[in-house]
Amino acid sequence: MKIVLLGAPGSGKGTQAFRISERYDLPHISTGDIFRDNIAAKTPVGIKIKEIIDGGDLAPDDLTIEIVKERLSRPDCKNGYLLDGFPRNLVQAEALEKFGAPTAVINIEIPLGKLERRLTGRRSCENCKGSFHIDFIKDADKCPVCGGKLFIRKDDNPESVKERFAVYSKQTQPLVEYYEKRNVLFSVNGDLPVDEVFGEIVEVLEKLK
Ligand code: AMP
Repeated sequence: MKIVLLGAPGSGKGTQAFRISERYDLPHISTGDIFRDNIAAKTPVGIKIKEIIDGGDLAPDDLTIEIVKERLSRPDCKNGYLLDGFPRNLVQAEALEKFGAPTAVINIEIPLGKLERRLTGRRSCENCKGSFHIDFIKDADKCPVCGGKLFIRKDDNPESVKERFAVYSKQTQPLVEYYEKRNVLFSVNGDLPVDEVFGEIVEVLEKLK
């Protein structure tokens, strides 16, 4: 299966991606994680995009498309992939059609108004890349899954979150219609507990297997 996860920042794409990837044995490819790893390692790509990402804007399309194209050409993607955070606009979606058109696009729906607090209270794990909300974990510094160090993403501050929502509405939201027209779009209700959202996704994917 070639799966794309669509959804606004904070809709739970990363959390669901972990589970889907485990259950269906698909490589989880998160462009956000790839970029953050590059920033942490201070690679040329990381240095180029750090400010853009911290501010909540999108990295350049040509660079992002090249990274994803290369990643999808690796052997672990030969039976499918799970893309989390790509494509983010129509240019990227058109490019993906040429080197790995998705068979299912899962759209996690949730009103933007419900997402701001999810993001500003988010803690991310340096090690397993999981994300958690401070309201639901005992220790705000330690990952409840792997024990790794938790950090606050630079783009989870209120200013950057506002920009990310604006970018999402203008550039990413149109992909819902784009994939609807291609008959590969499946929407699930993201305003439910994590297990229930996952249940809805599994229901969709089981029918497609
Ligand atoms: P995410 O972890 O998916 O929320 O992504 C974090 C940030 O990485 C985004 O706000 C963008 O700055 C950048 N990013 C991730 N995926 C893409 C993409 N497909 N195109 C451009 N920028 C991206």
